[in-house]
Amino acid sequence: MSFASDNASGASAKIMAALIAANEGAAMPYGADDFSIRAEAAVSALFDRDCAVFLVPTGTAANALALAALCPAWGAVFCHADSHVMGDECGAPEFFTAGAKLVGLPGARGKISPETLAEALRAFPRGLVKQVQPAALTLTQATESGTLYQRSEIAELAGLAHANGLRVHMDGARFANAVAALDLTPAELTWKSGVDVLSFGASKNGTLFCEAVIFFDRALASDFTFRRKRSGHTMSKGRYLGAQMLAYLDGDHWLELARHANAMARRLAEGLAAVPGARITQECEANEVFVVLPRKAEALLRAAGAGYYDWGARGLTAQEKPHRDEIQLRLVASFATTAREVEDFIAAAADKI
Ligand SMILES: *Cc1c(COP(=O)(O)O)cnc(C)c1O
Repeated sequence: MSFASDNASGASAKIMAALIAANEGAAMPYGADDFSIRAEAAVSALFDRDCAVFLVPTGTAANALALAALCPAWGAVFCHADSHVMGDECGAPEFFTAGAKLVGLPGARGKISPETLAEALRAFPRGLVKQVQPAALTLTQATESGTLYQRSEIAELAGLAHANGLRVHMDGARFANAVAALDLTPAELTWKSGVDVLSFGASKNGTLFCEAVIFFDRALASDFTFRRKRSGHTMSKGRYLGAQMLAYLDGDHWLELARHANAMARRLAEGLAAVPGARITQECEANEVFVVLPRKAEALLRAAGAGYYDWGARGLTAQEKPHRDEIQLRLVASFATTAREVEDFIAAAADKI
């Protein structure tokens, strides 16, 4: 019963098989191999646009290097206060932008509202020499609260950002889960709604280690190959990244994996909602479940060996916060989650084992 994170799961069998197959013979190093070249073309085809695509091994590298391409050292990057770039990347965005300022914005359900962004823009007037200059907005899709930005919300935020001279980045560590949940194309959820650069996650959804930085405007990517190499994220045996991404996209494997994860999360949320004393704190829109449980139920889960994170009061208003005898858990379903694990978890929480 492992619900700690979707990256607690392994890689999908299809992707492992593709890696073994790619292990035959010689291939040119540093991304000049046939796998990487074909993978980059496959990503462009998926997004229905001629994109500049760069494969990297981690999401932190994807985010930090993407932001560095959008933001000068004296720039401001607006992000959600609970975002991964803000709290989970050990200062990599600040480091790779050579010192840009991350400005964390509040927002219910893990989302930034247009009003909040407008207020932040007013707080950083353009041209005021004493302050960093607004340069980029980064949105997480699916959000750190497991919720989704609708297409219209992305378009409104991106419109406001562009009107104020900012570029728009999307942290898509769980982009597959968002696409699987919304009946929209990858293009509609990104460049057609104003996103300039996407960190297209894959590791959480079934690759071994592979993410893509996708520039929808090639002009923004002119320095990126040097940024990637200088930061130590250009893999000499690049074929193994390319092979992962090719297998991930082939036959909509990525969507099939994400649909399963989403379905398991939904089932988990529905089952837990019926546990006495439990309350679901965020609408389950992708593959994450946030639930407040009585500490008694949590002790049963711990005793049963279940994996999850204590999420504190993150994402909650003062009224929603767990009481002293309660605890908020974050549960993440993955492509590898089984219906059995879900049923067992619900049963353990309800003391029905
Ligand atoms: C997991 C995750 C990342 C990527 O993290 P790495 O551990 O560096 O691969 C980025 N953003 C979000 C929102 C994530 O959940």
